Amino acid sequence: MRECAFFFYCEEEFCKNVSFLSLFEKSSRERRKFFEFFCFLHFLLSFTLFFFPKMRFALWATAAKITATRTTTTTTTTVRLTKRAVASSSSSSSVFFFANRCRPRPRRRDGILLRCRALATRDDDGADFPAYAPKPFFAFEVLHQSKRSLARVCQITTPHGTIKTPAFVAVGTQGALKAVPHSVLDDANLDLMFANTYHLLLQPGHEHLRKAGGIHEFIGRNRPTISDSGGFQVFSLGLDADELENKSPNGKKSNDDKGERNHGGTGTKELKSRGVTKHKQQNLLEKVEEDGVTFRSYRDGTTLKLTPESSVQAQKNIGCDIILPLDELTKYDISLQELSESVDRSHRWETRSLREHLKNVKEQAMYAIIHGGVDERLRKKSVEYLTSLPFDGYAIGGSLGKNREELKQLLEFLMPILPRDKPNHLLGIGDLPSIAHGVRMGIDSFDSAYPTQIARHGTLLSENGPINYRKSEFREHFGKPAEILGSSNGDDECQCLLCRKHSLSYLAHLDRANEPMAWSLATEHNLHFMGRTMEKHRQAILNDEI
Ligand SMILES: [Zn+2]
Repeated sequence: MRECAFFFYCEEEFCKNVSFLSLFEKSSRERRKFFEFFCFLHFLLSFTLFFFPKMRFALWATAAKITATRTTTTTTTTVRLTKRAVASSSSSSSVFFFANRCRPRPRRRDGILLRCRALATRDDDGADFPAYAPKPFFAFEVLHQSKRSLARVCQITTPHGTIKTPAFVAVGTQGALKAVPHSVLDDANLDLMFANTYHLLLQPGHEHLRKAGGIHEFIGRNRPTISDSGGFQVFSLGLDADELENKSPNGKKSNDDKGERNHGGTGTKELKSRGVTKHKQQNLLEKVEEDGVTFRSYRDGTTLKLTPESSVQAQKNIGCDIILPLDELTKYDISLQELSESVDRSHRWETRSLREHLKNVKEQAMYAIIHGGVDERLRKKSVEYLTSLPFDGYAIGGSLGKNREELKQLLEFLMPILPRDKPNHLLGIGDLPSIAHGVRMGIDSFDSAYPTQIARHGTLLSENGPINYRKSEFREHFGKPAEILGSSNGDDECQCLLCRKHSLSYLAHLDRANEPMAWSLATEHNLHFMGRTMEKHRQAILNDEI
């Protein structure tokens, strides 16, 4: 009888014909060789799995036929099954079976407890989120998908009316548009208004808004509103002016003439400058912990703490139709490791925010905020994690790049992997070239203080680019502003008060005389311009031109 230790792979005639049962009839030497080989393989596998937990996760995921994303904290490692994975498996119960059979046991290693849980299956222990269910008060409908790009015309239904998309969202930081009443938005064909939780927390306070019956009652606007978590302004307090300009979508530097950068802002720079002046350049951002972020009020120095739960509670009292979870604002040029840790923290905070929101939905929808800076791997991870949770839509936040080109590259990567059955929102972007590109990439809404902010600083938006109305050449321009601002013919003519009744000469005079009406006229014109621009985008999509 021939001896062969590797009969499973041996090409000899004997080994090809040997059956598993016949092994036990062979000589004791053959059985010993087989046993030794089996033990060697077992040892190798055990050694690998023991010292390489990542491989253990991979094997576990493979065995359960799922894709898995892993979030790591200082204390806990969690494996999350994505909804897509559950859907692609033969049944959720089989996934759960594998998850329980194959998951690594809790193990203390280097002081870190590795704990694995299958979270996103419907067969879970009930401690986690239910699958997303449509809500009667919030609906999203794609009216037309362009045949030429990802661009689409949609309609979002909220308790306070519908939003036509692609939409520009005007920023009413303190529950008010600076220099103009809210009714201007209706005239300008802009459906949605943005309110900043941070400012409303400090003045008049979210309890005050609750007593008033919510923001719609308080400000007298029965149209859709959206609020942020307050986190952006709080984290902005810890950055210097240059960092603010470079590292976040809402704080991008304005460069009116060249237009090389994205434009945004929710009054953060104004807030920062006020805080720095009042508190003698002290840092108002005190500490960032796992629980939340502690800061001092720029108004009176009071120490306050914002947690995911308190932010959601404040937004419940404010009462906007769409709310956002607390997330972490990071600088643009941090290391990949720091960015990765920040993304994980934002994910944990967003999960806690969603949990708090679902305790009492109150006819509000909550968008997740996709993070990851300009790193494609982290963005993809953020999309996979957040789309497995029952959010109503997705906002794109975090650092969106240092210039328009980086934003473009980011959207070209990100938009094709974002779910198409829910609305999305690009945070803090309001310059016209970025909006045009975002529309082609399928962005549904954009918010920015840019159009209203530049209006108060001497700039009108026009078909020919931004126009500085303080220039001497306009001091004696007595004709219709449309001659300079474009669109002077037919139905496309701007219907703002400035373009209908006044001249650039009058506007320049009011501005030089420091009359607040100058800011009102310019702001109203820029909002009308944004409304007409978005309407043109919608028409172009309906005609399959973009
Ligand atoms: Zn106008």
